[in-house]
Amino acid sequence: MKTNFHTHTSLCRHADGTAEDYVKSALSSGLAQLGFSEHAPYPDVDFGRRLLFSELKDYLEEVDALALKYRGNIRIHKGLEIEYLPKYRSYYEELLVKWGVEYLLMGEHFYINPQGEQANIYEATSSTGQYLAYARTVAEGMKTGLFAAVAHPDLYMLNPFAWNDDCKRAADLIIDTATATDTILEYNANGLRWEQRSYPDGVRAPYPHEKFWEMAAQAPIRAIVGSDCHNPANIWDDAMEKAYANLKELGIHPVYQLNPV
Ligand SMILES: [Zn+2]
Ligand SMILES: [Zn+2]
Repeated sequence: MKTNFHTHTSLCRHADGTAEDYVKSALSSGLAQLGFSEHAPYPDVDFGRRLLFSELKDYLEEVDALALKYRGNIRIHKGLEIEYLPKYRSYYEELLVKWGVEYLLMGEHFYINPQGEQANIYEATSSTGQYLAYARTVAEGMKTGLFAAVAHPDLYMLNPFAWNDDCKRAADLIIDTATATDTILEYNANGLRWEQRSYPDGVRAPYPHEKFWEMAAQAPIRAIVGSDCHNPANIWDDAMEKAYANLKELGIHPVYQLNPV
């Protein structure tokens, strides 16, 4: 069964195509289920390159309307990709309960550093020393039970470092916590679409990272492939096929659905 729960639209300001363009692409690729996971807004701050809080209502109504229009052909779900930051705990609950969002994907770019400040993983470019703190924030998020899955849990490997003990410790914590909380980990196809780069551990995609997933394969985790498409043509493309082939090679049997949708 073909499904995808990680989909963006032009509403996030860095993707092409309307939500309906993605539905049409999903239909022509034969998907049984399509979940929208636009980059979520926050009520008090605009981190940029995402939906605005004032547009949240329209986004959710648009997905509802598409779910109704295409209900005979495909199941459409409304989700959001969002950072876990402890101070927004009640906001996540509000999104799920008051706004009727069906699922939240934790897409963690920010984390809480050992000084208790908010930091950005894209800026952890001087060493791998911050990775455990990153993993701690992700783990804390999983323990809230508010997230259906963690998108690209190995995102930290996009920085210009080779796999080392810090990377391994971070992976251990994320994988152990995913197992303990039964949170799904996403194998992100979008990383495979990026141009391969030269890293100290070879020419590779920024993520998914082989070593992270070799460790995941040793644990009773549940994994899902996410397209993380920012263009309708990428709903189901070579990167998706490659992602499934990679998981198969690792001996990981992916799931095709998120809880509770
Ligand atoms: Zn994006
Ligand atoms: Zn995404």
